[in-house]
Amino acid sequence: MAPRVRFAPSPTGFFHVGSARTSLFNWLYARHTGGTFVLRIEDTDTERNRDEWQAGILSAMDWLGLSYDEGPYLQSSLIGDHTAAAEALYDAGHLYACDCTREAIDERKKDAAKPGYDGFCRDRGLPRSSQTALRFAVPRDGETVVHDVIRGDVTFANVNYEDFVVVRPNGVVLYPLANLVDDRSIRISDVIRGEDLLPTTPKQIMMWEALNNCAGVEAVPLPRYAHLPMLVNEQRKKLSKRKDPVAVESYRDQGYLPEAFVNYLALLGWSPRSGEELVSRDVLVEQFALEDVSHSPAFFDVKKLTHLNGEYLRAMPLETFIEAARPWVAPWSSSWRPTTPPPWSEREFDEDLFARVAPLVQERLTTLGEVPAMVGFFFTEVTLDEAAFEKTIGSDPLGQTMLAVAIERFGGLTWSATTLHEATAELGEALGLALRKAQAPIRCAVTGTLVGPPLFESLEILGRETVLTRLHDALARVSA
Ligand code: GLU
Repeated sequence: MAPRVRFAPSPTGFFHVGSARTSLFNWLYARHTGGTFVLRIEDTDTERNRDEWQAGILSAMDWLGLSYDEGPYLQSSLIGDHTAAAEALYDAGHLYACDCTREAIDERKKDAAKPGYDGFCRDRGLPRSSQTALRFAVPRDGETVVHDVIRGDVTFANVNYEDFVVVRPNGVVLYPLANLVDDRSIRISDVIRGEDLLPTTPKQIMMWEALNNCAGVEAVPLPRYAHLPMLVNEQRKKLSKRKDPVAVESYRDQGYLPEAFVNYLALLGWSPRSGEELVSRDVLVEQFALEDVSHSPAFFDVKKLTHLNGEYLRAMPLETFIEAARPWVAPWSSSWRPTTPPPWSEREFDEDLFARVAPLVQERLTTLGEVPAMVGFFFTEVTLDEAAFEKTIGSDPLGQTMLAVAIERFGGLTWSATTLHEATAELGEALGLALRKAQAPIRCAVTGTLVGPPLFESLEILGRETVLTRLHDALARVSA
């Protein structure tokens, strides 16, 4: 039977890069094997769930092109199944009632070497009430083995597991059981998820096997497990929600391309056998194998991601690049828009002009979010970098002379990047300035800064009138 895998996010925060990686690996596995990719939203933590987090998961998956074949199932709509499973486990004697308070447990355990619940109520035969939780009677000896595709057999001694709570006194069935009951009912064949969940897996295996032996419960084969390696930051510490840039939304907002992002995520724990880094989605699907996933932590390296993004940007056909830049340069005509609008208005923006400017910047970008700052001077007043102005014009008499002679020469020039380039070089030479020095005051006067797209091509596109006005304005600023 073709594999059935699921991605089961909890909508309790921003969509995390780790979740995106888990989602991608499930998707790749399903697409590679011709299996089914199911989406299940684990929304039973009512205190931490929010509708906008759920919407964020769906829109990020859509952005990344991680289409699902079934779902989304909502875990909250399956609570009846969770309760029925807990009842079956109770009837078969796997769960027992416990009325111990946290304080009582801590008090009894204060001198004990091992923390956790001590099994106090296991043999008390307490009746169930609104004051009692239901705990799972963990076998006192033996071990539970997780057969993991990535890690091999991981063995856990049962003595290290306390009799854990399965149902709270208020009747709420806790996540480990809810999660596995759903995996059983939607017939998941392979559970591919983060390494952080590995310690809970033995509990789930114990309950899964116990359920298979309960009267009236259909026996379902245990899934295969694959626990994906942890993502770490530069300090080799687990990525932190607060300190590291982990929200997928923010990468979209900054102008990372979904294809580059997917390519980069795929390399977090996996790599194609060819060792290549630039791998298209089709090749990922063709080559992905769970057996090739590594178990060592994977460094989430924003620099590498950014570099890869630049490569994808440069490789785009111009037309595609222009379309991809739309949300940043013309958000009013795009269904999705980044949080920061461009520094120009809809009236100031000119599509045709942008099409001419685009090739000048496409080569120089690492993210689409950099476009507006780079091309702002084409559409709107220059925003002057004061320090750059002081350095190249304000306190530099040669810079001022350069502007004055450029005004004179540019006035009568046949207007093209080549002639502008030649004229600037010549004027500079007469003043004893290398080209770099000679063009700096011009660049600053016309674009407002010292970095940006190639100058002479930009001057050509801007046109004589605008260029001369800006050169004049800069000189006037000095006298003022
Ligand atoms: N809902 C869990 C989480 O977001 C995932 C559970 C699983 O994949 O089994 O951490």
